[in-house]
Amino acid sequence: GFRCGIVGLPNVGKSTLFNALTQTAAAQAANYPFCTIEPNVGNVAVPDDRLLALAAVAGSAKIIETQLGFVDIAGLVRGASKGEGLGNQFLGNIREVDAIVHVLRCFEDDDVTHVEGKVDPIADAETIETELMLSDLESLEKRVPNLQKKATQGDKEAKIAASVLAQALDLLREGKPARLTVPKDEDEARAFAQAQLLTAKPVLYVCNVDEAHAAEGNAFSARVFEKAKAEGAEAVVVSAAIEAEIATMAPEERGDFLTELGLSETGLTRVIVAGYKLLQLLTFFTVGPKEARAWTVHVGAKAPQAAGEIHTDFERGFIRAETIAFDDYVTLKGEAGARDAGKLRQEGKEYVVHDGDVMLFRFNV
Ligand code: GDP
Repeated sequence: GFRCGIVGLPNVGKSTLFNALTQTAAAQAANYPFCTIEPNVGNVAVPDDRLLALAAVAGSAKIIETQLGFVDIAGLVRGASKGEGLGNQFLGNIREVDAIVHVLRCFEDDDVTHVEGKVDPIADAETIETELMLSDLESLEKRVPNLQKKATQGDKEAKIAASVLAQALDLLREGKPARLTVPKDEDEARAFAQAQLLTAKPVLYVCNVDEAHAAEGNAFSARVFEKAKAEGAEAVVVSAAIEAEIATMAPEERGDFLTELGLSETGLTRVIVAGYKLLQLLTFFTVGPKEARAWTVHVGAKAPQAAGEIHTDFERGFIRAETIAFDDYVTLKGEAGARDAGKLRQEGKEYVVHDGDVMLFRFNV
């Protein structure tokens, strides 16, 4: 599955947020058992109202949400790239995630120590980014000359990697993140992705604000939004303290509580929606009397890849997909109605999956 790594300086609210998100998700999930694989890894059920609608039409006995993984990567401090505070271990954890959720302290509280002495989310973000850039810089300063040497000896793969990673190295030397690298072609793009650079990963800034500003944010979060916009990153406002409170409530109490605070949805939903956008993910569904289930693929995925999410055999033996758009499925009251109205499409190997597609795969075993 897809995984987001939660990073940030100590005492910014990472653990509070991680615990709240995973507890809320556990309570929201209709039928999927919430699981923590390790104490700091949680698979969060992605809330999606469309599943309820589909299950109602099909009379599905069970609803199964798709999941997004969150990893609480604690322990990043100034000097992490030099091994401070178990730095290298944490940087290694970041290498394994698909995206970075960067929690920034945007609340004032004299009782909560700030490791850098004052609340300044932009400076905090830069402190962490600098560590990630230094780590990438150090690794590329070793890797690029090696690749260049191999390239001169006729290694074609090395030549491609050397070219694109030299560009990344130049950016890092200028103090810029590797994600600004522009690969020349698909081969370079692949080599760049394989390098798994920390500063090549997409970033979502989570502004942890005080309870009074949970709805519209505050002056600190406004500055983070400007920064995100300039970088092409995403940002959301969350109050970890409120999320922690919501996590302890019964689902039926939550609506009123959120309304009182002027919020339309939980922080969990906002983080997930932003995470989906950041990772360029979309949801498709499989629906039947047994279950209505949501699945995740990358934007641009073709039908066989979607089939492969369900089972590798489905991908290997893929023949075609019978597809109904979500709106058609609901309006026409299910598969039979959609078929009669000519809204059940037969799609082949090249079909690019749309968000909300209800799919049935035909395959050879
Ligand atoms: P981490 O080190 O980033 O994981 O931070 P924690 O989640 O452990 O939080 C550090 C301290 O800040 C704890 O005492 C939390 O209760 C407190 N804290 C976290 N979020 C908020 C918040 O939104 N408002 C206030 N006032 N305190 C918070």
